Amino acid sequence: MKKNATIDVLITAEALAGRVHELAHTIAHALPPDVMIVSLLRGSFVFTADLIRALHLQGASPQVDFITLSSYGNATTSSGTITIMRDLTEDVRGRDILIVDDILESGRTLTFARNLLQERGAASTHIAVMLEKPGKRKVDITADYVGFSIPDKFVVGYGLDYANYYRELPFIGVVQE
Ligand code: 5GP
Ligand code: MG
Repeated sequence: MKKNATIDVLITAEALAGRVHELAHTIAHALPPDVMIVSLLRGSFVFTADLIRALHLQGASPQVDFITLSSYGNATTSSGTITIMRDLTEDVRGRDILIVDDILESGRTLTFARNLLQERGAASTHIAVMLEKPGKRKVDITADYVGFSIPDKFVVGYGLDYANYYRELPFIGVVQE
């Protein structure tokens, strides 16, 4: 894969925007307005930025924090072990948390994040992901709010990278081999 490879559009920017607003509507009616969002960097920063503004339009006033968990590096498959690269700033004790990630695949990243927040005394944890790949779970975990289920292909754009490229694409795409 090279930087100027051809990318096939899988989900358009318009479809992403519409779905974010639907998710925000659902989330704002289900969770307390002062929910604390824990965004898993780096892949979820675009989704998080869109989601919090959509939540604002729904009357919510979330707090936001970020945590960086170890990623795939430059590989396209997971090594299986998750570590904290950069921790949260806020105390999550007693808080209702919405964990926001880009994509749910094996489930290891979100399981690690949820366990960590529960160990630290979060009152509740819910999960929102923009994308999920059904049938790829290695750990039994489900997201409460899912944007789109996608085929088992490596996708980029809307925050998702390949070797830290393509995050800026406004759509979700598949890199042509
Ligand atoms: P899991 O721990 O569920 O296997 O993987 C979750 C993480 O793997 C995501 O947060 C994302 O960073 C990365 N990931 C999984 N599938 C893809 C993909 O198709 N494209 C990209 N760019 N990252 C992915
Ligand atoms: Mg990620």
